[in-house]
Amino acid sequence: MAKEKKSSKTKTPTMPERKTRRITDDKILNAINDQIVLEQYSAQYYLAMSAWFEDKGLEGFARWYYIQHQEELDHAMIFYNALHQFGLKPVLGAIDAPPSDYESIEDILEQTYKHEQYITDSIHNIAQIAQECQDFKAITLLDWFIDEQNEEEDNTSSNLERYRLFAKENGQALYSLDNELGQRTYTKPQKLVDYEA
Ligand code: MG
Repeated sequence: MAKEKKSSKTKTPTMPERKTRRITDDKILNAINDQIVLEQYSAQYYLAMSAWFEDKGLEGFARWYYIQHQEELDHAMIFYNALHQFGLKPVLGAIDAPPSDYESIEDILEQTYKHEQYITDSIHNIAQIAQECQDFKAITLLDWFIDEQNEEEDNTSSNLERYRLFAKENGQALYSLDNELGQRTYTKPQKLVDYEA
């Protein structure tokens, strides 16, 4: 049997077509575009609540909600930047006006907790789409948001519970809670710091 002659020239191997899909699925792109609007709406919603508290003279609550509004803007920008990193173009939508009047402190704290639960559901929904599409970059991104939502729900339910337990019918306790919430400081998420560096 004759031996096959080996070519002295090195051939470039033909790579098989890439099987791992990159984040190019329209479903993911649309879902993240919608989420950007939702995060921006959340920012407006919390800023409107901050304005309500400011108007009532509750400066600590006002500060807490002002920082919450900054965090929501950060969330929107993290999704926005991520789309660029994935090689996709964000499409921005309209942001609805939030309500400007609220019934009471309790009403705001309740709405906030419910809103965060709604955001969690929305993040879970995108995570599910990402898994179905096997978009691993999106899955990693959404893991960060799942942890973040866990914190958001913890913080907002704790504010509501503590208000009901101590401050709802006690002016001194309300004064203390307002002072405590006023100590909140803003920290830019590391994800955003890294991207902007
Ligand atoms: Mg958010």
